[in-house]
Amino acid sequence: MRFISTRGKCFAENAAQAITKGLAEDGGLFVPESFPDVAGELKSMLKMDYAERAALIIGKFLEEYDKGELLAACKTAYSGFEEGDAAPVVKVDDDLFVLELFHGPTLAFKDIALTLLPYLLRKGATLSGEKETILILVATSGDTGKAALEGFKDKEGVKICVFYPSEGVSDMQKLQMCTQEGANVNVVGVKGNFDDCQTAVKKIFTSAEIKEKLKTENVVLSSANSINFGRLVPQIAYYFSAYCDLVNAGEITLGDNVDFTVPTGNFGNILAGFYAKKMGLPVGKLVCASNSNNVLTEFILSGTYDANREFFKTMSPSMDILISSNLERLIFELAGRDSALTAARMDELKKFGKYSLTKKETNALESEFFADYCDEEECAAQINETFTEQGYLCDPHTAVALKVAGVYCDENTNSDKMVVLSTASPYKFSQNVLRAVSGKSVKDAFSAAEMLETLSAVPVPAQITQLKTKEKRFLKVIDKADTVKEVCGFAAKR
Ligand SMILES: *Cc1c(COP(=O)(O)O)cnc(C)c1O
Repeated sequence: MRFISTRGKCFAENAAQAITKGLAEDGGLFVPESFPDVAGELKSMLKMDYAERAALIIGKFLEEYDKGELLAACKTAYSGFEEGDAAPVVKVDDDLFVLELFHGPTLAFKDIALTLLPYLLRKGATLSGEKETILILVATSGDTGKAALEGFKDKEGVKICVFYPSEGVSDMQKLQMCTQEGANVNVVGVKGNFDDCQTAVKKIFTSAEIKEKLKTENVVLSSANSINFGRLVPQIAYYFSAYCDLVNAGEITLGDNVDFTVPTGNFGNILAGFYAKKMGLPVGKLVCASNSNNVLTEFILSGTYDANREFFKTMSPSMDILISSNLERLIFELAGRDSALTAARMDELKKFGKYSLTKKETNALESEFFADYCDEEECAAQINETFTEQGYLCDPHTAVALKVAGVYCDENTNSDKMVVLSTASPYKFSQNVLRAVSGKSVKDAFSAAEMLETLSAVPVPAQITQLKTKEKRFLKVIDKADTVKEVCGFAAKR
């Protein structure tokens, strides 16, 4: 299957090439030329395990990858999740379910794609004849960085460099990255926010000059952010899997619609749900939940994307984003795949921080999506309420989604079953979660985690406890202007 750029100036022969490149040369994002329809295969997916379902969905796009090998890679990737289930569905209330995506090695949903991406990328490089060292550049709002580092550490033929906002991640997230092991890794704090990191990385990707320079070191760039189709495609699978689990549990009948609420930042997770729907999964509404950085709420309700606004640091830092990269893939579809129009809008966004859809596109957007946001106080109240009333301990990102899902369900009383995607373990944000459930303020992230365990009887994950004694290897913080120098220096390092 061919992959085309949303900006129309280039394409990739197949998924292998699209994944190896990461970003299209014209600055656009690679999208599949068409969406395979798998509605007819849903029934056969019911009896499969998670890895089998994932391999089936991923294989529809990655036709040139060997099917047996892909399945083996999925089995390996997902065997590292708690109890071997990468995406369990938990019932928390009548008609309300939580899809837990945080049981992987770094306790965030990013693990679902990033435990598999090293295989997809290295195989993709082999299939497209790429022999140079691949340098993975990552901009992270907290969770992608760690998940990518774990996935790619000490993998042959790959180096990885992660930029995170130095004051924009939780204590646990920062510790996870600063203590990263591996000989091929680099972690750097940037004075700025996630958008600054993402813009710096995108700039490097589209600079012919930097690429030329890296070539002299036999290095080519790729991305582990959700701008890479290889990051996105494993995420489509859990929508299918959750649906199958609900059928198997007798909660729905095959063919019934299900709604999904997604805590959204860069629009990768929810876009995967939109793609699942295009592939024939019976999805009703996709509910987009934001924190106080509510640029997406406004966009979905009005059709105007306006990034000219105050940036808030919240207790759900992985959603503290004003420039949502994957939205480009959505507006490309809304525009009837008009790449010239998409390119023009992205140009407007770059120049003026703003663009608008047509009335017709806005109507189409509203028929597929519902959007709302939740402020800090509401988020804390939701964590408390979910814990007290349902006995379920959730992290702040999930709480934002639960809050917005509640608003949607109240407004639509005979709606379908609702699945809320849970994207991180509460222990990654222990101080804020503890404060929300008990009113106690504790400075130290580990003490907060221990107290939370006592209160909730949810055990502290080993990945958290281990951080306490790990050596801090990466403490460097740079100005955003110095990211190019940092990348070139790391690329040259043997
Ligand atoms: C990355 C992340 C999100 C946002 O996901 P997008 O794909 O960027 O929309 C939400 N919650 C957590 C915990 C995350 O790590």
